[in-house]
Amino acid sequence: MVYTVNKVISYEEKIVNRTMKNKFLEIAIKAVNKACVVTRKVQADLTRIQQLEKNDKSPVTVADFAAQAVVTHVLEGALGKIKLVGEESSGELRLPDQQTLCQSVVKATQTVWAEATIEQVLDAIDLGDHNASGSSYWTLDPIDGTKGFLRGGQYAVSLAFIENGEVILGVLGCPNLSSDFDRLFSDPDPQGLIYFAVAGEGSWFIPANAQNTEAERLEVTQNEGLIRICESVESGHSKHDDTTRIVDRLGGAGESARLDSQCKYAVVARGQADAYLRLPTRADYVEKIWDHAGGMLVAQEAGMIVTDIVGKPLDFSQGAGLKNNRGVICASPKFHGQIIATIRDLGIA
Ligand code: AMP
Ligand code: MG
Repeated sequence: MVYTVNKVISYEEKIVNRTMKNKFLEIAIKAVNKACVVTRKVQADLTRIQQLEKNDKSPVTVADFAAQAVVTHVLEGALGKIKLVGEESSGELRLPDQQTLCQSVVKATQTVWAEATIEQVLDAIDLGDHNASGSSYWTLDPIDGTKGFLRGGQYAVSLAFIENGEVILGVLGCPNLSSDFDRLFSDPDPQGLIYFAVAGEGSWFIPANAQNTEAERLEVTQNEGLIRICESVESGHSKHDDTTRIVDRLGGAGESARLDSQCKYAVVARGQADAYLRLPTRADYVEKIWDHAGGMLVAQEAGMIVTDIVGKPLDFSQGAGLKNNRGVICASPKFHGQIIATIRDLGIA
């Protein structure tokens, strides 16, 4: 598969590890692309998606496991031994009473990794067991927005590389996101998009599952009108009432758009909304790195500002959780400061 990734990188001659980053990017895009093929196939038969409930009551499906197996398999096949902090692990799938689900995961994985055996798939899932103690590692949410995935809506395959606490590469597969801004988020696009970014080198996108495509760079023009906001569908993930209070103060352009997953970062990065608000619903919730790393870099490299609700940068040096932050505000420079000030004035932070 040939992307214009080389072109993306080549103008920045001074970058240290340029060749490494270029290779990582190409492999990461390939891995996410293949995972999207699997998730799309599973989602095509919505009513039959097999799933489990995790300890925290969140769902995990056949496609979450299969996508993690595919991504780690592709990365390790191309790069050798990897460290990856993944959202899923194979524990449940190894239990005797979960063998039907396990077989389905293997079958889904075989869509793009034809000869995969049960043991290989389980081991590949567990390549995502790094505890974020290394100085550099990958992080993966194989299906971010699983609830959206299950309702036939938006979800993302999010892969990022973190080095010394900095996110330096992010690839965000958005299989149901349309390039047509008028298409409802609840109406899945037949092709979808993959956004990617390398620190210091901009944000780019290609159609998902396309061969030999030229990547296009995101170039956002400033919105001169009222603020347009997006947020989670799930009121348990972001406090909708607080969004309303903020919008009432700022004078919003209408209803906030609601969609699941890190696709929200892409929606802001491409100028379809001016801000993504993630306002804490609980004092003790710690955001996970895999829920933000890929999306954050795509938004930042498109010129957006990403912080927590008090305006602090997201701190990726604290292991698998963003312990030093609460909530997330991703917004264009024009609106970011106003949002942080409003949050402070309203006593939300
Ligand atoms: P979204 O699709 O934006 O609603 O976000 C989905 C992500 O929310 C999942 O991947 C979960 O890890 C995460 N999540 C679960 N519980 C919470 C919570 N209480 N606050 C914020 N995020 C949460
Ligand atoms: Mg997630």
